[in-house]
Amino acid sequence: MAKTVPNCQACKNFVKATDPNIALAYMGQCHKLEWPYAINIPKTDGIEGECGYYEGAGPASKQG
Ligand code: SF4
Repeated sequence: MAKTVPNCQACKNFVKATDPNIALAYMGQCHKLEWPYAINIPKTDGIEGECGYYEGAGPASKQG
């Protein structure tokens, strides 16, 4: 079964990784899921599963 991956890069709670070393492994961070902590989001797989906090244009998730 295909896994569901939240569409983090289109979400306003997402902050893109700017440090080149971090960007090798992570696309960026989510500042909502475990506020006040930021969660690193793996570059290739993203966060697996449903996210109830998506705030952005387009679909909340995609099939990965
Ligand atoms: S709130 Fe959900 S969709 Fe938005 S960045 Fe965080 S994990 Fe991704």
